[in-house]
Amino acid sequence: MDHTHRFVEDLVGQCRVPPGTSVSMGRDFDPAGGDGTLSRSEGQPQLEEVIQVIDDYQDRLSAAATRGILLVIQALDAGGKDSTIKHVMRGLNPQGVEVHSFKEPTDEELRHDFLWRCQRVAPERGRIGIFNRSHYEDVLVVRVHSELLRRQGGSDRAGTTRIWARRFQEINDWEHHLVANDIAVVKVLLNVSKAEQARRFIDRIDRPEKNWKFAPSDIHERRYWDDYQRALGEMLSHSSTEWAPWHVVPADRKWFARLATAAILAQTLIDIDPQYPKVDASVRRQMATDREALVAELHGSSEH
Ligand code: AMP
Ligand code: MG
Repeated sequence: MDHTHRFVEDLVGQCRVPPGTSVSMGRDFDPAGGDGTLSRSEGQPQLEEVIQVIDDYQDRLSAAATRGILLVIQALDAGGKDSTIKHVMRGLNPQGVEVHSFKEPTDEELRHDFLWRCQRVAPERGRIGIFNRSHYEDVLVVRVHSELLRRQGGSDRAGTTRIWARRFQEINDWEHHLVANDIAVVKVLLNVSKAEQARRFIDRIDRPEKNWKFAPSDIHERRYWDDYQRALGEMLSHSSTEWAPWHVVPADRKWFARLATAAILAQTLIDIDPQYPKVDASVRRQMATDREALVAELHGSSEH
């Protein structure tokens, strides 16, 4: 295994939430953490190498078209989802990747089951789909503000007992279904601290070109910080599975969050190890004949 592959494997291992463990955000994860040895200046060339790995493997993923990847990215406001996606995408051929952002559900979306809008845009084999927020909003924001459940009719009405346990089961089953159908599912939580969120909000207020990113409702949501931390802990404890594990990425330092997220995507590609399709013997013979004809044509035309 070369140096970059080993680096990637170590980093991903540090972030992975072991399936079946019960975790708590405050106790188990440090938003300011990192790999402990790496400095920012070392992180930059390391990111370039990881992006090179992604680039190389994605080409094979597209060519093989037998497996796809769904990369789910969750974070609280100002957790760095947009900028992380931007950086990780640098290593991807735009033709083979799609990003879907999940906002407050539309009326149409609310008339369907909560997974409907995600299933509709799940990636096909050969492609990488990135979810900027995801079906997990339905066990996060909807759990923190359970009155939102009332907009989701039928059996999902508020008051239904065990709704969250059921939703985790449904999410795990759906992700299992995707994996069984050759779509790898890999999940990243960008873990930002409350203080860092405040600094980033201030920055959004101070810089006119960032004002658009700031919503007054962000301050309102911040009041529910502890509720969100609890909901995140529950999410990790109930939906980090063998087939679709969660990774908690310390996100107070943006460069580290980018590097770790890129590494997680790289490791998923390395595990899949897609191969260029092999051409069979008869096609190879035909190609040899075609090649001769093309070469002859070039020589022929250069004589005129
Ligand atoms: P942003 O990502 O900043 O554009 O904000 C999108 C907003 O949509 C966030 O406040 C999310 O919490 C909210 N959102 C996303 N999915 C849902 C959902 N299923 N139910 C309610 N709100 C949601
Ligand atoms: Mg926002």
